[in-house]
Amino acid sequence: MDHKGRLQRLQQALRQQRFDTLLVTHPANVSYLCGFTGSAGVMALSPKGATLFTDGRYIAQAKEQVQGARVVIAPKPPLAAAAVRLAKSRGRRTHVVGIEAEHMSVASRTRLSAALPQSFRLKPAPALVEQSRMIKDGEEIDLIRGAVRLGAGLFDTILENIRLGTRESDVAAEMEHAARRAGAEGMSFPTIIAAGQRSALPHGRASTEPIPEGFVVCDFGVILRGYCSDMTRTLYVGRPTAEARLFYQAVWEAQQAGIEAVRPGAPVGQVDRAARNALKKAGLARYFTHSTGHGVGLEIHEAPRIAAAQREVLSPGMVITIEPGAYVPGRWGVRIEDMVVVTDSGCEILTPTTKELITI
Ligand code: ZN
Ligand code: ZN
Repeated sequence: MDHKGRLQRLQQALRQQRFDTLLVTHPANVSYLCGFTGSAGVMALSPKGATLFTDGRYIAQAKEQVQGARVVIAPKPPLAAAAVRLAKSRGRRTHVVGIEAEHMSVASRTRLSAALPQSFRLKPAPALVEQSRMIKDGEEIDLIRGAVRLGAGLFDTILENIRLGTRESDVAAEMEHAARRAGAEGMSFPTIIAAGQRSALPHGRASTEPIPEGFVVCDFGVILRGYCSDMTRTLYVGRPTAEARLFYQAVWEAQQAGIEAVRPGAPVGQVDRAARNALKKAGLARYFTHSTGHGVGLEIHEAPRIAAAQREVLSPGMVITIEPGAYVPGRWGVRIEDMVVVTDSGCEILTPTTKELITI
């Protein structure tokens, strides 16, 4: 679907929910709706029209990128410009203005409210754009495939650089350099290279510590043409003991169980439970301390969250990660993460990289 189609779908939702205007302030939502990727942009969306407000730094960029919306270049902050324009549209009745509560500071809300006449009412809007973004269209899935392919290719650079005694940060640096050389716009989050005892830290960003014998959790991703990739592989430096192999195997089986539970109509909680139950069988459930996965797209973490307390149901076109892990504090940790796309009958694994335990 093109930007125009996305806008139309959202405008229909606005009409149904009786919003006169929705102010879209979250950059990823703005980019999703009209293609604009500048840092200062606010969209005012009504059931009939769409306007992007930005400032003088983005004249050329807006002209090049924006589709389906009018562009207003203003000498003031975009939200203030949108408020001025809105205030002029005053009618007889109350004008309901939806705001993205998750993405507007209290200060912005206060300023906005002060800039609008009394007949305007600010109302937190449900996450309409995020809801729409959950289901990727064919074009988005192609872009995601591209990012995943580039990201997965970097695993070779990791393998070439991980050696006993090398610093985690040096491995990350080589990999990130290769990412840029391969055309990535950036990393989708700070690279995790967590070795030895540090592998038990689920978010152990690459440190300047030398890599000892043991597991190394490598979690990394790139941004390509706006879309993110995300994958984790865990390696072993040295010779894994039988216990280490069993530990790895248990996480792999949990990851497999999670993937097998992914199909349209499945509640996300069920996918989480499938992965968790597999670890329970291995006696490791208490070491699995985070949720099973998350949506990925324009942002590295987006809806739906694959977790026990979530109520979302999977649909074709959703792109999510399946990434169970087990972490024994002070000892070791393992995580394995793939990106998958929900299909009409189950899911397709996007990440092409082997999950056999690689030893170095
Ligand atoms: Zn990850
Ligand atoms: Zn992830």
